[in-house]
Amino acid sequence: KRTALIAGNWKLHGSTDLVQALTRAAKQAASSVNAEILLCPPAIWIPAVASALQGSSVKVGGQDVSAHEQGAYTGEISAAMLKACGSQYVIVGHSERRRHHGESSELVARKAEAAFAAGLTPIVCVGETLTEREAGQNWLVVESQLNAIRGLLNKTTEIVIGYEPVWAIGTGKTATPEQAQEMHALIRQWLVQQNAQAGHIRIIYGGSVKADNAAALMAQPDVDGGLVGGASLDAEEFIGICRNVG
Ligand code: 13P
Repeated sequence: KRTALIAGNWKLHGSTDLVQALTRAAKQAASSVNAEILLCPPAIWIPAVASALQGSSVKVGGQDVSAHEQGAYTGEISAAMLKACGSQYVIVGHSERRRHHGESSELVARKAEAAFAAGLTPIVCVGETLTEREAGQNWLVVESQLNAIRGLLNKTTEIVIGYEPVWAIGTGKTATPEQAQEMHALIRQWLVQQNAQAGHIRIIYGGSVKADNAAALMAQPDVDGGLVGGASLDAEEFIGICRNVG
C-alpha cells in the first residue's frame, strides 16, 4: 500500500503566527499518524516553515515554480531556489494557476520538468470544471491535462498527481468517495499505460477535504491522500484530517 500524503496548500494565506501554529500542529499530527505530511505555504514563508519543522518528518513544498532555471523573469522563483530553502515538493498546475494566470497544460508540464530537474517532486494537479462534468467530459479533460506530462513519465515516476475537481474547491461540495475513486482509478490506469513502474505514484484528492469526510475518501483503494486548502489553515481541523488517514 502506498503511504498516504496529506498536503496543506495554504494558498495566499500566512503570517508569522500562522507559521508557528500550523507547524506545531503538523508536528503533533506527524508523531501519531502513519502518513507523510507536507505543508505548502506561500514561498516567502518556506524558510520559516522549514526551520520550524527541523528534526520532524513533516515536509515543506512550494505552491508553484518557474519553468525557467534563471534569467530575466521578474517575480518568478526557480525550482533550485525552492530546493535550497528546504522544499522537497512543489505543486504545479493548480486550477487557480490555470484559471487566474492562464497556465496551459504545456506550461504546467514544463514546470513539472523544471521541478524534476532540480530534485523536487512535482505534485501535478488536474481536474474538470462543473460544466465539463455535466457535459460528461471529466475524463477527456483530465486525460488531456495528463497527456502533457507523458514525456516526464518516461523519465521518472517520482511524481504525485493531485485530482482536484474545480467544482469541489473551496465550495464545501466534496466529491463523493465513489466519484473520487472512479477518477483516481482512471488516472491510475492511464499512468500504468505510460510507464509500467507508475503503480506506486500517489494520486491525492483535493476539494473541500475536511476532518469529517477525510476517512471515507481515504478509504478508497486509489485515493492516496489529500490536498487540503481551507481546512489546512485550521490547526485542529488539519490534525483531524491527518488522524483520519493514517
Ligand atoms: P479547499 O480544501 O479549500 O477546497 O481547496 C482545495 C485545494 O485547492 C487544495 O489545493
